[in-house]
Parts: sequence; C-alpha cells; structure tokens
Amino acid sequence: MKRVTILGSAGSIGRQTLDVISRMRDEFSVYGLATLNEVEVLVRQIEDFRPDVVAIGDKSISNELREALRENTPEILSGDEGVIELASRENADIVVNAIVGAAALKPSLAAIRPGTRLCSANKESLVIAGHLIMPRVAEVGAELIPIDSEHSALLQASLAGRYDEIKRLILTASGGPFHGKNIDFETVTVNDALKHPNWAMGAKITVDSATMMNKGLEVIEAHWLFDIPSDRIDVLVHPESIIHSIVEFVDGSQIAQAGLPDMRLPIQYALTYPDRLPGAVPSLNLAEVGQLNFSEPDYRRFPCLLIAYDALDAGGSAPCAMNAANEAAVRLFLEGQISFAEIPRLLNRALTKHAVIPKPTIDDILAINKEVFEETVRSVE
Ligand code: MG
Repeated sequence: MKRVTILGSAGSIGRQTLDVISRMRDEFSVYGLATLNEVEVLVRQIEDFRPDVVAIGDKSISNELREALRENTPEILSGDEGVIELASRENADIVVNAIVGAAALKPSLAAIRPGTRLCSANKESLVIAGHLIMPRVAEVGAELIPIDSEHSALLQASLAGRYDEIKRLILTASGGPFHGKNIDFETVTVNDALKHPNWAMGAKITVDSATMMNKGLEVIEAHWLFDIPSDRIDVLVHPESIIHSIVEFVDGSQIAQAGLPDMRLPIQYALTYPDRLPGAVPSLNLAEVGQLNFSEPDYRRFPCLLIAYDALDAGGSAPCAMNAANEAAVRLFLEGQISFAEIPRLLNRALTKHAVIPKPTIDDILAINKEVFEETVRSVE
C-alpha cells in the first residue's frame, strides 16, 4: 500500500488523481491533501479519503476549515509553509504536485527526498528551475515522474530504447481552440479561449493552450526531464489529441503512445509506474476515431511557441522571466484587462527588458518571478 499526498487536491488534476485512487484502494491510500482556499471541496475530500494531514494555503480561512470539520479531524497545517511542510513529510511515498504556476516550486523541492516519487503535473517549476530540480532528484535518489500527458507519452515511448539511441522528441499539440480558425486575436473573448476542443482543464492551462505557450512550456519541460537539447525537440500539431507524443530513435523508428484524451491515464501511470493496472479510462477505438491529422505549427500566428524556444536557448533565468510574464499576461487576459493578441507582446517586452542571470539560485528565481510578474501587471495600468 503506497501513501499519497496531493498538493492542489481541489483542482482538475487533484480531483482526477483522487478519482484514480478511489478505484485502487488496495494499492493507494491518501496521506495528505493541500488546497489554496477551496474549503468546501477539501471537506468533502476529507470525508471520502480520510487523510492524516491537510494543508490550506490561505491562512485566513484555516479556521473556517476547522469549524466545517466536526469529527475525525485530520491534522491541519496552514499557509505557504504548511503546504511546504506537508510536501516534505516522509510519511508519503508519493507526492502529486498539481499546484498551478510558479507557486509549486518550493513544494516541489520539498517533496524531493530519498526514495520518494514526485509525480509532477506542474510544468512551471521545471520551466523556471529545471537546472536545480533535476540534479537534486538525482543527488538524493528520488524519482520524478511526469503527469503531463505528452511527457508521460515520451517516458512510455522512451522505454523502447536507450537514451543514446534517442534522435528526437516529438511533442504533439492539439493546437487549442483557435487552430486553423480565422479569428481576430485582438477581439477574441475569454470564453472563446476557454473552450478547449479535447481536454477539460483549469483556466490558466487552457489559455496557455490557446496561445500555444502551453506547448512552449512543455518543450522546456521535456528538455529538463529527458536531457535533450531544444534542436532535437519538435512540435507537431495533432488536433485529435490521440497520439500524446512520439520518440524517434536513431534508426528512424518512431514510437508513439496513444490513448483517449483523459488525464486519468497519465495520472495513473505516474502512480503505478513502471507497472500497469486496469483503470478508469475506456479503450481507445481507432476505427471510431477514423482519422488522425498532423501539421506543422503556425509559428507566425502563435508566436508564444517560438518565444519559449528562444527563452530555453537563452538559458539561465530567461525561462523564469518568460513564465512570470506569461502568468501575469494570462491573468490580465482572464480579468478582461488585455486582449488575447497582447499576451505575446507582453512576453516579448518582458524578455527584452530582462538581464539573464546564467545560473540563477532559488532566491534569484523567486525574486525574478515576483519582479517580472509585478512589472508586467504594472505595464498595462
Ligand atoms: Mg500537456
């Protein structure tokens, strides 16, 4: 029986992780749950899964949680430091990090302990601090297993050969809701951007998907997870989201992983890796799908993808500055303060202004993250 802690348990990935666990109660139990502020959801999850510990990121509402729980109350931690403490607890064998954005960095680092498996659904922490996270994972003897569907596919496909036999990684991209559509990005609405054709996800990642910054972040994530340089990581638009990614080996063989677009599949694989168990996701019927389409990304219409490649090549703190500007830009767009077309402009502006630090420390990264985020917000006031 493996004990699991879920950070961000009220979000889309957190809830789906609990769904997977609910079908595998002989294999997994819940040690800890953390949410920023969703008390109601957390209370229900506590009743269903009986965790030993919970953490609520927003300190001001921890009393609300205490009052909502009458009996069988788990230990309650609160604040950022409470979430970090929960992540660091050795009682859990597996930590699922499903926190959105750069806020996941410190909990990610806290979860990297000898013998622990960190299942990461958070791409931003690798994007901004891959150079610190990956050596730490190797050094302490932890495991880092991606939940992101593309990286789960790359992991599964890469098992068909050795590292030195990998020629390139091919990340598939749905293209988001605007792929192939002649839409004016100056006037497109938040609702339009939130209508993802294949995946049900949180708002931040859905907007990233519409700008294709999500794929840019994933290119950087793949670079760190698989130690492959950017010129050997390609993006292939595949609107059906059935092929989740492909590894090409030196002999020209391409191994692809396919499945229905359902996050419970990569979540379950991250939990059971390297084993496989029957689960919730129905079989893919390719005859029913009928047709799979592929095309090159449209870099002109979706400049965020190239911005991400450039930030990865600039190295050091550049991806951190880019990510912070993107988090700010997405928030401003969701709040109706800027147009969709303004998002890449704000990223370019932030990267032009940013003086790259070649080997940023954690403190450098947290400072740049805060500074660039605030500066980007101020720039539109
Ligand atoms: Mg993905």
